[in-house]
Amino acid sequence: MNISTETVQVGLEWDTRTGAVSVPIYQTATFRHPGLGQSTGFDYSRSGNPTRLALENGIARLDGAVAGFAYASGMAAIASLLLLFRSGDHIIVTEDLYGGTCRLFDRVFSQYGLTFTYVDTSDTLAVKNALRPETRALFVESLTNPLLKFADIPALSTICHEHDLKLIVDNTFLTPYLFRPLELGADIAVYSATKYLAGHNDTVAGLVTVRDQQLAEQVCFHQNAAGAVIGPQDSWLVIRGMKTLGIRLDRQQENALKIAAWLQDHPRITKVYYPGLEGHPDHGLMLRYASGFGAMIAFEVDSHALVEQLLLQTQLISFAESLGGVESLITFPEVQTHADIPQELRARLGINDVLLRLSVGIEDADDLIGDLRQALEHD
Ligand SMILES: *Cc1c(COP(=O)(O)O)cnc(C)c1O
Repeated sequence: MNISTETVQVGLEWDTRTGAVSVPIYQTATFRHPGLGQSTGFDYSRSGNPTRLALENGIARLDGAVAGFAYASGMAAIASLLLLFRSGDHIIVTEDLYGGTCRLFDRVFSQYGLTFTYVDTSDTLAVKNALRPETRALFVESLTNPLLKFADIPALSTICHEHDLKLIVDNTFLTPYLFRPLELGADIAVYSATKYLAGHNDTVAGLVTVRDQQLAEQVCFHQNAAGAVIGPQDSWLVIRGMKTLGIRLDRQQENALKIAAWLQDHPRITKVYYPGLEGHPDHGLMLRYASGFGAMIAFEVDSHALVEQLLLQTQLISFAESLGGVESLITFPEVQTHADIPQELRARLGINDVLLRLSVGIEDADDLIGDLRQALEHD
């Protein structure tokens, strides 16, 4: 079955009693037991809730996983994965990383004896050189934030499996519609469902999928033990959003390619990062392993003054954090999403004071280009 059909099926046959097409919101904290030692399968909503389970089963199916888990946010999902490790363990991390993830690793989990080494994971030799006897995992983003580098998951998974490491992939920017890391050897995929999966800039959510049963049992245990679960209302919003994932991303990618090509030709734009452009270094790798290039664009303008002008003058495109929703958003990574990355690393990566990030929505491409044009040429 095509994945765009599967997304529409999420939750569809959930309520066999009434036949409700939209999965009901089971707004309950607890469930009555039919008798002593008996359960309906649901006991208490931290441990399991039917609306949440419809979402968890849905993402598991889309990713080809044995199980899915839903959390209150993307960060809660990532934090709960770190509970799989113990003091003394070492994790290798891609250096081009979402700022919030970097903050969680360096300022929270480093306090509990986990150590992290940041490397350019597109360089497999650099990954091998970072290995230590206590290395337990490799954490990468399938398409990085904000510079849109694509990870070679088959190559990284070979290294991980040779050294008995878990390969964890943050697949937020691509979603299962465009890329399925577990099918290419990753052990765990994690999502900020706040972004493309929910897709409407209206809720915060996180998801995890896992490849094997033993990992599923561990993640399930920690999800219940630590308890950062998503509520039934938000579960329903994510399911509702996921149903249109395919058509949203088709339109968003089409718009992104047009906008990236237009930006590339504009005299005041000095650099454009979009993997759908043939000149992008990972264009070929993505053609091979992904079924699209996503709808995030990063670009540099010719002066810092123009950054402020663009952020203030765009009318259709909102100056706001986050990404992946139907509304186009523009952000300034250096002071917003990536402020928690050490300055020296930011400079090396190219996250500087002229770099902007655009999350392309589903509006008309020509209207978006018109908005960027008037903001760039405003005086
Ligand atoms: C937003 C984001 C997160 C964090 O997710 P929240 O839902 O905001 O907690 C993690 N990884 C990536 C790549 C993100 O874009």
